[in-house]
Amino acid sequence: MKIVTIVGRPNVGKSLLFNRICSKDISLVYDSAGVTRDRIISFVKKGQRELMLIDTGGMSFDFHSPLDKSIHDQINGAINEAYIVLFVVDGRVGLHPLDKEIAKFLKEKNKFVFLVVNKIDQPEMEQFCAEFAQLGIEEIFPVSAAHNLGIQELVEKIFSRLPEESQKSNPTAATRIAVIGQPNAGKSSLINSLLGENRLLVHEEPGTTHDAVDVDIEIAGSVFSLIDTAGLRKKNKQQKEFERKVAGRTVHSINRSHIVLFVIDAKKGVSFQDKKIGGLIQKAYKPCIIILNKMDLLVDHFNAKEWNKKATMYVQNELPFLSYAPVIGMSAEKKWNFNQLLTTVRLVDQQRKKRIPTHQLVEFFQDSLNQFPPPLVQGKRLKIYYATQVKEKEGSTTLPCPTFVLFVNNQKWIKETYQKFLERKFRQSFPFIGCPILWKWKKAL
Ligand code: GDP
Ligand code: GDP
Repeated sequence: MKIVTIVGRPNVGKSLLFNRICSKDISLVYDSAGVTRDRIISFVKKGQRELMLIDTGGMSFDFHSPLDKSIHDQINGAINEAYIVLFVVDGRVGLHPLDKEIAKFLKEKNKFVFLVVNKIDQPEMEQFCAEFAQLGIEEIFPVSAAHNLGIQELVEKIFSRLPEESQKSNPTAATRIAVIGQPNAGKSSLINSLLGENRLLVHEEPGTTHDAVDVDIEIAGSVFSLIDTAGLRKKNKQQKEFERKVAGRTVHSINRSHIVLFVIDAKKGVSFQDKKIGGLIQKAYKPCIIILNKMDLLVDHFNAKEWNKKATMYVQNELPFLSYAPVIGMSAEKKWNFNQLLTTVRLVDQQRKKRIPTHQLVEFFQDSLNQFPPPLVQGKRLKIYYATQVKEKEGSTTLPCPTFVLFVNNQKWIKETYQKFLERKFRQSFPFIGCPILWKWKKAL
C-alpha cells in the first residue's frame, strides 16, 4: 500500500486538510514510547484502491534543541516512506521563508510532491497561488480545507498518480491473527464482534488439531485469518476444560500468528498471569495489539481519545517490555472503539511488512553514530559499517518481525544501553508501529 504524507510548517491547515481527505474513515493518533511527536494515520479508500495518509505535525528546521531534531527525524522518516508528499502552504499568509527551506529539503528526496495552497476560500483568491510558483513545484492545487473546496480534485489526482496494485491479496497469504488472553477476558466476545462486522470469506477451515479452526474475514478489502477460534466461538463444558490449558494453547497460537491481539480485562487490571502471557509474546517477537477490554465496566461515557491515552499509560507501565504494542481501550460487548481496533490491525499489518531500503539504513546509522558516538569500551569504539533489512525468503522459516543485520567492527563493543538508545532513535524515523524489532549483529570481515 502506498503512503501519502502531509508536511508543511505549523498552522497552514494540515490537520484540517487531513480530516477532509479521510472524511469518514477513522484516524489514529499514534503516540508511544520513544516517539515525541504524534503521527496521525488514516486509510483512505477509493473504489478498489487504498492509501495510507500520514499527518506529520509542523515542520521546522530549528535544530537548537534535541527535541526539534527528533521531530525532524520523524518527519523525515514519514517523507522517506511516502510515495506522494502533500506540501501544504498558507495562501493567505503568502510565501514564508520556511516554505522555501521545506521545498529545498523535499527536492533532495525525489518524491512526487503536490503543492497544496490552502485557505483559498474564494475562487478569486486563486491569484494568491502565483507567488508559490517560485518554489519550483510543478503541480499546484488551490484548496480550502475549511470550505471543502478543491479537495475532491486533489484526492482524484492523488489516486490517479498511484501505481496499479500488483495483485489482489490472496487467501493463502492472509495475515493470521491470534486472539489470546486469560479466560473470561472477552476473547469470544471480541471474535464474535469481528465476525459480525466483517465479511466472512471461508466459513470454517479445520486446522491441524481439534482446537484449531481458522476463520477468514475481510476487513476493508484485505483478508485476515482469525486462528484457533474453535474453543472460543462455541463454548461448551468440554471447551471450558480446554481453557484450563491456557499456557499450551496460547504458545501454540502465538507461534502460528502474524499478529497477536492480547485481550486484558480492564476491570481486573493487568494480573500476574497477563504478565506471563505478555512475556510469551515478547519472547516470540510477534507484532501485538493490546486490548484493554470491558471499559464499559469502568466508565459510563467513553471518550475514546482520553481513555485510550489513559489505557496506554497504564498498560505500558505494567507491561513495559511490550511498549511497542499499541493499546486500545474498548468494549467488545458495546463495540466501543471497535473501528479503532480495525484500523490499528490494518496499520500494524502494513508496518510488519514494511521494508526500509539499505541506503536509508546505512545513512541512519552513520548519522546516529556521528551525532551520538557510542561509549568507549576498553579504549575502542563500536563502528557500524553496513546495515540491511533481512528479506523473507520463500520456503525458509518466516521472520516473526522486522529484522536487521548490522555489520560492525566488533560485537563485543555493543553496550545494551547504547543498543536501546539506538532502537529508540531508530523508531523515531521508522516507527514500525506494533512490531518488535530484531537486531542481528555481525562482525564485518
Ligand atoms: P496545522 O497546524 O497545519 O495542522 O493547521 P490546522 O489544521 O490546525 O489549522 C490552523 C488554522 O488554520 C486553524 O485555525 C484553521 O481553522 C485554519 N484553517 C485551516 N484551513 C483553512 C482554510 O481553508 N481557510 C481558512 N480561512 N482557515 C483555515
Ligand atoms: P473469553 O473467555 O476470553 O472468551 O471471554 P468471553 O468473551 O466469553 O467473555 C467472558 C465474560 O465477559 C462474558 O460474560 C461476556 O459477556 C463478558 N464480556 C466480554 N466482553 C465484555 C465487555 O466489553 N464488557 C462487559 N461488560 N462484559 C464483557
